[in-house]
Amino acid sequence: MKIKQLKRWPLAIACALLIGVSAATTTVLAESSSITVRATVLNVRLGPGMSYGLMGQVQRGTKLTVIKQENSWDQVRLAGNKIGWVASWLVDQNEATTTSARTATVTAGANIRQYASTSAKVLGTAAAGDTLDVIYQEGNWTQIAYHNTAAWVSTSTISLTGKTVTLASPQQTQPQSQKAAQTVSAIKVTTNLAVNLRSAAGLNAPVVTQLPKNTTVTVLDQSSEWYKVQTADGKTGYLAAWTVTVPGTKAAKAATNLAEATIVLDPGHGGSDSGAESTSGKHEKTYTLQTAQAIGAALRAQGANVVFTRSSDTFVDLAPRPVVAEKDHADAFISVHFDSSANANEASGFTTYYYNAKKDMQLAKALNHAFDTNLSMTNRGVQFGNYEVIRNNTQPAVLLEMGYINSDKDFAHISSSTYQQQVASDVVKGLTAYFKAGNHQ
Ligand SMILES: [Zn+2]
Repeated sequence: MKIKQLKRWPLAIACALLIGVSAATTTVLAESSSITVRATVLNVRLGPGMSYGLMGQVQRGTKLTVIKQENSWDQVRLAGNKIGWVASWLVDQNEATTTSARTATVTAGANIRQYASTSAKVLGTAAAGDTLDVIYQEGNWTQIAYHNTAAWVSTSTISLTGKTVTLASPQQTQPQSQKAAQTVSAIKVTTNLAVNLRSAAGLNAPVVTQLPKNTTVTVLDQSSEWYKVQTADGKTGYLAAWTVTVPGTKAAKAATNLAEATIVLDPGHGGSDSGAESTSGKHEKTYTLQTAQAIGAALRAQGANVVFTRSSDTFVDLAPRPVVAEKDHADAFISVHFDSSANANEASGFTTYYYNAKKDMQLAKALNHAFDTNLSMTNRGVQFGNYEVIRNNTQPAVLLEMGYINSDKDFAHISSSTYQQQVASDVVKGLTAYFKAGNHQ
């Protein structure tokens, strides 16, 4: 880790600020915009984030109606008119079901994105002068009809023409069977101990009946720390969430918390800041990017939403890096670096740094443990590190020093794809354990 204090304010900062402006917005979608569940099993939560309670699950292929988007999560309408939230990157946005649209002219080359965020997948591009069919516009983002799908462009890149067009109604081509596809599997919970079933959420509410230990009940609803449940003999009431367990079903395991997590990966250095050097003059920035990209691919394979602070050899200042984590409401921020000692070949091993013990320690421990059980390099442990990207971070954050770049022994690992893949699979293992243990904000 060698941070140069550069005084330039490059374009990259402007880009990071744009991310900041757009990512936290709430977007109200056009009426009857729908999505299809892409994950095998998708958790439906009470709020827009994996820390919110689970209210049900839906299967792959289920179509859901989207009400609005917030922080890359979709608020959806479920069977029985229930409202819940799903991770938007685990669903495909469907046909735009609006039948009329306004048209707009593209004023500057624009990326067409899967949802309203600069971190969303780019589906295509529009050139200046192109005409787009606008379904809905709010704030910084405009929803357009694109190849029979709803997609998004930045509002600043288009200009409305004042004309309207009629769009083909995709409902005419949808099979009848899809009408019945909107089902939510009921969640069942089992009491950990003999508990009181109460008539309302709260310890002062009247007791309906007592339930013995190991009674399984069906969850009807969930409000903060209480489950509204129905017993096998038809009684309904409320149980404190901490008195029950959600039995591990095969379906529940398929929807891992990692799949719902947003992870920001921060490849150290870049561009004019090349970082530390190997004894052969190779740059740290090259291997931080390679390793972060390997980690990103492994996390995306698990369904996680991965955001990079840089994805090419470009200079990004330190200050905007943690901002990306905050604006994207990241569940974890991981900065990747390689160490350097004063003299070549005098130090070796990897270190996992945290800054705020309360916020970062569990993440640091989970990752360090995963590395420890797999990597052949010396483990220098979990340590406090006063680094800007983790110090100025509102999200759980760690800085990894994955070996000494000026140790020839370590560099043989650092520069090998085998080691980079090992680190990537260890990050998947470490984060899986971290989220499984309930560590999220
Ligand atoms: Zn570094």
